[in-house]
Amino acid sequence: MRVSSLEKIYMLLKMARVARRINKNVSIKKFMQRSLFLRSFFEKEAIVKHDNKYVISTFMPPFPSKAFETMLHAIKKTSEYVKGNTSLPVPISTYISVTNKCMCHCYYCSNALHRAKKELSTEEIINIINQLQDYGVSIIGFTGGEPLLRNDLLEIIAAVDDRSSTLLFTTGIGLTEEMAYSLKNVGLFSVVISLDHYKKEEHNRTKNCSHAFDSAISAIHNAKEAGLYVALNTLPSPEMIRSDEIWKFLEFAAYKGVDEVRILYPIPTGRILGKNLFNEDDINRLKQIHIEGNKRRSLPKISVLAYLESKEFTGCGAGGTRHMYIDASGNLHPCDMIPFSFGNVLEEGLIKCMERMAKAFPRPHPECFTRSYYKELAEFMKKDVASADDYIQFCSSLGSEEMPVFFEKMV
Ligand code: SF4
Repeated sequence: MRVSSLEKIYMLLKMARVARRINKNVSIKKFMQRSLFLRSFFEKEAIVKHDNKYVISTFMPPFPSKAFETMLHAIKKTSEYVKGNTSLPVPISTYISVTNKCMCHCYYCSNALHRAKKELSTEEIINIINQLQDYGVSIIGFTGGEPLLRNDLLEIIAAVDDRSSTLLFTTGIGLTEEMAYSLKNVGLFSVVISLDHYKKEEHNRTKNCSHAFDSAISAIHNAKEAGLYVALNTLPSPEMIRSDEIWKFLEFAAYKGVDEVRILYPIPTGRILGKNLFNEDDINRLKQIHIEGNKRRSLPKISVLAYLESKEFTGCGAGGTRHMYIDASGNLHPCDMIPFSFGNVLEEGLIKCMERMAKAFPRPHPECFTRSYYKELAEFMKKDVASADDYIQFCSSLGSEEMPVFFEKMV
C-alpha cells in the first residue's frame, strides 16, 4: 500500500535522524547539498508500507531495519572510495546465482554466458553469504537459473541474518502456497517474479515456456497470501514502450495486487550479446514511465532501471560501487550483465577478487556499462581471453571521467 505525502515526510525525517547518526561529521554545506538532492529523488518515488516498514524500492532494504543501516554504512564507505581515501567500495547489493538450471529459455537471458560446470554445495553458498555479510552488503539476491529448483533454498535463505535483506528472483514455477509460506518463515523479504506481458501467449513466447504465465500468476497470488513483498521483473519489448501498452501492463499488475514493478530492458549480453534493442528514445521513454508511473496512486510502485541507473541518479553500479554478482560456480562478476569474472570467492576470498575488480572499475560509470559498450563487449568476447589482466585492460580502457549525480552530490 502506498503511503500518503504526509507519512512520506514523517518517514524522511526519521530516516534523516538515522543517517545523521551514521554520518556525524558532515558540514552544513554538504548536508544542504545532500538534502536537496534527496528531496528531488524522493519527489519522484512512491513509498510502499509493508510489514510496518517503508519500502522505497527493492533496490534498497526496507526502513527502518538493520539492513537499511548496513546500506548507509556501505554508501559512506563507497563515498570514501570514490574520493580516493580507501581502496575498495562496498556495494549495496550482490546477487548470487544458486543454479544454472531453468525450465524457461528467455530470448534475453543474461545467464547464458555464465554457465558453470558444477553447482555449489549448501555449505559453499553459506560461506559466500557469510563473506558478503561480514563485508557489509545490505541486499543479497538469489537468482539463477531458477533458484526454486534447489531443494536447499530455504536453508540458504535462512543463513542470511538481519544485517542484510533478501530477494528471490524467480519465474514463479514452483512457488506453491506452501513454499511461499516457508520462504516467509525463513525471513525472505521479497519475491521478484518475472512477468513480461499481461497477455499469456506473449509472456510464454518471451520465456519460451508454455506454462510460464500461469505459473507467474499463481506465484503472485501465493506470495501475497504468505505476506511476502511482491515485485515483478518486467522486460518489455521496445514495441510495448513505443505503443504505450506498458500502461495496460501496469494496470494489470495493480489488479493482481503487486507491490512493485521493476521495469528493466533487454541488456545486450548473454543470449542477445551485441544486439542493442532499445534506442535512446526508448530509454528516455522508460525514464518518463518511472516519473509518471509513481505519480499515479492507482498503480504499484514503479522502479525503472534505466532511470535509477542513469547519470541523473546513481549511474552504473557495476564493479562494487553499488552492485556485483557471483555466478553459480562462485566467480565474482562486476554485474549479472558482464560475462567475465575477477576470481573465485571460495578459492581466493571476496577481498582478493574485489581488489582485482576495482582495478577494472575504479569509479562508477555514468550509464550502463554493458549497454554503453555493447559493441566493444561483443567484439571482446570473440577473443580467446581468459585472464583477469585482459579484463582489467579491457574495462579500464573504456569509460569517462563523468560522475553520476548521486556521487557528485553525496560524496
Ligand atoms: S552494467 Fe551497470 S547499469 Fe548495466 S545492468 Fe549492470 S550494474 Fe546496471
